[in-house]
Amino acid sequence: MSDEQRPKVLIIGGGFGGLFCARRLGRLDVDVTLLDRAACHVFQPLLYQCATGTLSIGQISRPLREELMHHRNVQTLLGEAIKVDPDARVVTARRPDESKFDLHYDYLVLAAGMRQSYFGNEEFAAWAPGMKTLDDALSIRRRVFAAFEIAETLPPGPERDQWLTFIVTGGGPTGVELAGQIRELATRSLANEFHSIEPEEARVLLFDGGDRVLKTFAPALSERATRVLDDLGVEMHFGVHVSDVRRDGVTVKTKGDGSSKDYPARTVLWTAGVEAVPFARHAAEVLGADTDRSGRITVNADLSVPGHRDTFVIGDLAGRDGLPGVAENAMQGGWHVAACIRRDLAQRRRKDFRYRDLGSAAYISRGHAVLQAGPVKLSGAVGWLGWGFIHIAFLTGVRNRFSTVGTWMATIARANRSDRSFILGGSGHPEEPYTWESPVHQGSRASDS
Ligand SMILES: Cc1cc2nc3c(=O)[nH]c(=O)nc-3n(C[C@H](O)[C@H](O)[C@H](O)COP(=O)(O)OP(=O)(O)OC[C@H]3O[C@@H](n4cnc5c(N)ncnc54)[C@H](O)[C@@H]3O)c2cc1C
Repeated sequence: MSDEQRPKVLIIGGGFGGLFCARRLGRLDVDVTLLDRAACHVFQPLLYQCATGTLSIGQISRPLREELMHHRNVQTLLGEAIKVDPDARVVTARRPDESKFDLHYDYLVLAAGMRQSYFGNEEFAAWAPGMKTLDDALSIRRRVFAAFEIAETLPPGPERDQWLTFIVTGGGPTGVELAGQIRELATRSLANEFHSIEPEEARVLLFDGGDRVLKTFAPALSERATRVLDDLGVEMHFGVHVSDVRRDGVTVKTKGDGSSKDYPARTVLWTAGVEAVPFARHAAEVLGADTDRSGRITVNADLSVPGHRDTFVIGDLAGRDGLPGVAENAMQGGWHVAACIRRDLAQRRRKDFRYRDLGSAAYISRGHAVLQAGPVKLSGAVGWLGWGFIHIAFLTGVRNRFSTVGTWMATIARANRSDRSFILGGSGHPEEPYTWESPVHQGSRASDS
């Protein structure tokens, strides 16, 4: 096929779904453009290790350009998709300097993932970063380690206690991993480094609306996780929701009787929910597609958008039959869409997407993880080894795999964490997770219109 005739495939998002789709399409007679607002693939399952100083951002991410350099028909571009015109088959993207460019497509693959949801309380984001991007991880790292540093300079009393209190909202895998890691670094890594404070006295409070942590896991595994967290000293509160987040603490409401209580704390981390990124909401609207409450786009059995055979949705954004928000679903979705396009080119009928559940795992603390795959349920050290194996297998880049294993071994052998450095400010705007727009620009744009 001549270059002119080759179908153009445009993929929005270089996460698990977009990357795996691009890799597969790299073998077909198509021209692929992979557009990502961050230009790199981030291994989200290890973000919390970056946030708590074990791994560097370089170990859990890889430039998409480097990752795909051997696929001559795939080009990667830095830009944030902001608009789609399905009739003209054009996506408009914004560069970091706010200028715009257009991309034409024959096939569009929406793989832009989800972002943290504050359930309509966007103002919470200023005090409680979520955990979805490298900016988030660096922002959390700064807040956590700076909190210990600030406490060291204060006399004993309520102000110092506030800095030594860490609140985590949400008892899913990310909340559990963060809570466990903060207690672990307080009791191991930082234990002997301070003169004025005792880091071990740091309180970590975990709030969740349900009745147990890790609700998607079997009750026995979630019980095991609760015991390990308890032993670590994490204070768990269930059946509650955080109704207010301020600079100096949170208000928590009990679901049953509606009573509320204030908890003073200077570090609040939010892992309580997810919602579609703004571009996905816009795309659903112009495509006339249905969405669920969180903004996931309803798709046909082949993952295409109803009425738009040329447009697919994969990964966390795809709303169908309770497809889970896990990496495996995104990767399989990426492969499936590449297979659909291959079948179209060969004028064969597309197949339906069948998700194969290969299980899930969550890290709790050193030597403890839970792993569930069909009837197999592992916890403790065996679960931990299984967890480590799975994460290394899916981490992008051979160099990243070796260096991560090396770092883990050093962390196990010695209590220290090698990536505790943080910068003061200037690390982007985690509070505006999916836009580069600064308040100044937003103001000028509002007055322009
Ligand atoms: C902290 C954390 C821990 C997790 N742990 C696990 C785990 O242990 N096991 C597991 O299976 N899953 C885990 N997950 C879930 C898993 O990471 C997701 O299911 C998976 O990343 C979804 O892949 P995706 O391709 O749909 O989206 P993502 O991986 O989120 O990728 C979306 C991409 O789109 C880009 N993007 C967004 N908007 C735009 C735009 N407008 N224009 C251009 N680019 C855009 C983003 O920069 C990003 O690169 C975890 C998630 C998090 C956040």
